[in-house]
Parts: sequence; structure tokens; C-alpha cells
Amino acid sequence: MSKEKYDVIVVGAGTAGTYMSWLLAKKGHSVLTIEKDERERVGKRLDIIHFETDRIEKAGIPPFKVGEPDCIEIRDTSIVGTPDFTTGIKVRALQTIVRLTPFLHRMYKELEEEGVHLEFSCSFNELIFENKKIIGIKATKGTEKVEYHARVVIDATGKVAALRTSLPDDYGVETFKLGSNDVMYVLLQYIKWKYPEQEHPNPDTGYNWWLLWFGPSYDKNQAILGVGSPGSYENARLMREDFLNRANLPAYDIVKEEQGMTPYRRTPYSFVSDGFIAIGDAGALTYPFSGHGVTATWMLCMIVADVLNDVLKKEGYIARADLWEINVRYFKDQGAKFASLYMQLSGALNFKENEWNYFLKKGFLYQTGEDEEDIPEPNKEYEEEEMSIGELLKFMGKLIWGILKRKFTIGHVSRLISVNGLAGKIKKHYENFPENPEDFDEWVKKTEALWIKKNVAVKHLSNNVSIEFH
Ligand SMILES: Cc1cc2nc3c(=O)[nH]c(=O)nc-3n(C[C@H](O)[C@H](O)[C@H](O)COP(=O)(O)OP(=O)(O)OC[C@H]3O[C@@H](n4cnc5c(N)ncnc54)[C@H](O)[C@@H]3O)c2cc1C
Repeated sequence: MSKEKYDVIVVGAGTAGTYMSWLLAKKGHSVLTIEKDERERVGKRLDIIHFETDRIEKAGIPPFKVGEPDCIEIRDTSIVGTPDFTTGIKVRALQTIVRLTPFLHRMYKELEEEGVHLEFSCSFNELIFENKKIIGIKATKGTEKVEYHARVVIDATGKVAALRTSLPDDYGVETFKLGSNDVMYVLLQYIKWKYPEQEHPNPDTGYNWWLLWFGPSYDKNQAILGVGSPGSYENARLMREDFLNRANLPAYDIVKEEQGMTPYRRTPYSFVSDGFIAIGDAGALTYPFSGHGVTATWMLCMIVADVLNDVLKKEGYIARADLWEINVRYFKDQGAKFASLYMQLSGALNFKENEWNYFLKKGFLYQTGEDEEDIPEPNKEYEEEEMSIGELLKFMGKLIWGILKRKFTIGHVSRLISVNGLAGKIKKHYENFPENPEDFDEWVKKTEALWIKKNVAVKHLSNNVSIEFH
């Protein structure tokens, strides 16, 4: 059996593993990236996918060009529709509409130019330990059994988290598998309007009451009708059914359908341990409000590359303590914001349909603005800033006015306020992520005590279906 040795092994060549490998190779480290699928087939489970344009730039990805095989369009606004179908709110949304497999193929060439050793049709089987510490992996390449050794092994295998879930329980990274309430089940229909001249939803309109959206497709007479729900694909189908019963859409044909799951839960408390890092869906890392995962994880990858670059220059085994800075830098920033947003969702998702209408129209979620300048960026969701006292008073005033006009129930408003308080607390707590790994267990205990207060939100649809968000 051949035994090859690298600085880093990345398992999985999806968007997370590919970007991670590229960053490390650019810094001069030897990287092996293995992928179970054939080169031509990677990413085929999804075709059109959205990346946040500002995050693409931040990540330093070679720019997209509209009309190239991997880029359909670059948009900077979209519409949010109210559930009573009377109002469409224009919001700024910096989205690049990407074709996944051509994008990955463009990146694989970049990786090869930087010297990454890419192995396709090569499946991870098990971790190799020495003195209870990871030193490599066993894999199957075609029909051949192979062994690869490295100073650090990175799990980028997506939702299956093949490496993370096979760690010993006491290794230092949680080994949970994603259950049905830890994911959004997403159904996509690529549709073609039968009579394109008839009025139909804009190619980028979200009906977030149903967690449903129309996204751009191959041309202007087509669209992608997407819907997501926790619990099951059946829940997602019922959400879509409720929307379709009410939306009065013009006729369309379904060209093709796709489905999949995206993580919808807090990440593990630590991404790192001895010789090990988890990234991407394997680390359950997605934007809380959209379920998008691609560019969210690139922010973690940038930190990983930075820290590893220094650590790899030193001799000796790379232990948990050497990688700890990855946790610290991630959780103090994006990790704290995401924890807070994920907590807030249980307040917002609990509103009833008529409350949701009012909520949107009065600009609680997205403020409407006449000026282009005033159009807020939903990306601010991720960069969420503290409200000033003036803004807070205005916000509270709107809530109280809503209660007086009987647009909101007091129960739901008080829940929103208490959830906001909890969200603030959890954000501060993550911002205080322990710099010393020895303080981690104590930090986890306190974090658990906060998450336990997150209540299940229930959405009641007009077709008598209720969907639980845990
Ligand atoms: C229907 C749907 C629509 C979505 N739309 C968007 C969107 O518009 N924008 C967005 O940002 N996100 C979107 N997401 C989420 C996004 O797809 C994921 O967050 C993202 O793809 C995660 O990337 P990843 O590299 O971590 O995992 P993956 O893309 O799953 O890649 C993991 C790779 O690891 C390989 N692998 C698995 N096991 C092994 C093994 N044992 N050995 C070797 N290789 C292995 C797999 O073959 C795969 O290629 C969507 C998800 C779904 C389901």
C-alpha cells in the first residue's frame, strides 16, 4: 500500500474543500484534495446556485463574468412579497447567480496551477491515529486501497461530515449527525412560463412567509421555484402547496426538479482538534436567514488558511492548542453574529400570517425606501449592527402601535422582545469565546444554558398545516 505525505489533506472537493485547498496551496503548502465523485460529476446535484457578491470579493475568488459558463447573472436587488400579495418590497441583495459544476471546474484548474494534488473517484474510509491523535486517512481510489498522511486533515465532506462523525466522542469536536430538525429540506422546480407575456413574479422574488422564492433561471421566460422547510420534504411540499393555492400564478411547465438539505442548526462549539478541522456543511455552517452555505464558510476558510500558514511553518505535531485561534477568531466575529441571528429566528418565525404582513409592510425586517440609497441590504443581516437608542425607540414605537391597532398579539411581541434579549446575550457570550482551551468546558456549559432557552417556533399555514422550527 502506497503512503503519501502532505502538509494538509482536504476531504471533499465541493465549494468548501475547493476554496480551502486553493488558499493553502497559494500560501505554498502541499495539499492533497480527495473527492469521491468523478471529476465531471462533482456538484451535479445542484445546477444554479446563488453566491453573495460582496463575500466573493472578500474571499478573493477570481471574478465572475456574466455569460461565462459558470455565471448567469449578477443582481443587486430583489423583491420581498407580502403574504397578502399586495406589496412587493424592493431590497438590496448582492447576488451572483452561478452554475455550480462549471464554477467548480474553473476552480479545479486554479487549484492545479497552484500545485494542489487532486484525486477524484477517491473515497475517504477512515482516520488513522497514532497515540490517539490523527495522522492521516485511509481511502479507496478506484478499487485500490490507499493511505495518506498529513499534518492536518480537513473534513469538507458536506452534510455527511464523514470524518467529524467518525471521531472518538472525547476527541474535542462534537460528532452529531444532522437530524430532520437540523436541516432545511429544499425543493427546487425549474419552471418555464407558458405565456411569458402574462404577468408573473419577478425572477428574484421571495415570499419569506412560506420560505419560498422565485430565482433567476436560464433565461427571462424561466424561473426557479424554490421552497424550504425543516422536518421533511413533505413539509416543504405542503408549504409550496399552500402558497400555490393562494398565489394565482399563470400557467407554467416544470422543466426539471432538484432537492436537497441544507444545515439549519448551531455549529459545533469547536471546529478544531488534534490534527483536525471541520469546514462547510460538515461544520453545519450556513447563513441563518437564508440557509446559503457557500460564502458563509469561505469566511471561516480564510481564518483557517491564515492560522495554518503560521502553524505549518513550525516543527512538530499540530495539536488542538495550535489550531485554537481558528475558533477564537471565527466565534468572536461571524460565529457570534450567526448565533444571535439563529436565536432571533425563533422570535420572528412565530408570528402569524397577518402579523407577518404588517411586520413586512412596516419595515421591521426590511425597511422600504424611496431613494436607492435607502434600500437596505439584507446582507446587513449578517453584519448586523447595534441599534442606536433612537432606532430602538422607533422600533419599539412601531411594535406598540401594532399592538394598539391589534395588528400584533401581545404574546408574540413579548416573545420577540425576550428572544431579542437572548440573542443579544448569546452574541456577547460568543464574542467572549475563550482564548485559552482550558476555559472551553466552562464556556460550553454556559452556552448550553443559553441555547436551552431557545423555544420551538410554530408556523400555522392556511391549509391547516403547522410547521415547527426547532
Ligand atoms: C437545494 C439547495 C439549494 C441551495 N442553494 C444554495 C445557494 O443558492 N447558495 C448557497 O450559498 N448555498 C446553497 N445551498 C447550500 C450549499 O449547497 C451548501 O452549503 C454547500 O454546497 C456546502 O458545501 P460543502 O463543500 O461543505 O459540501 P458539498 O457541496 O456537499 O461538498 C462535499 C463534497 O464531499 C464529497 N464527499 C462526501 N463524502 C466523501 C467521502 N467519503 N470521500 C470523499 N469525498 C466525499 C462529496 O461528493 C461532495 O463533493 C443549497 C443547498 C440545497 C440543498
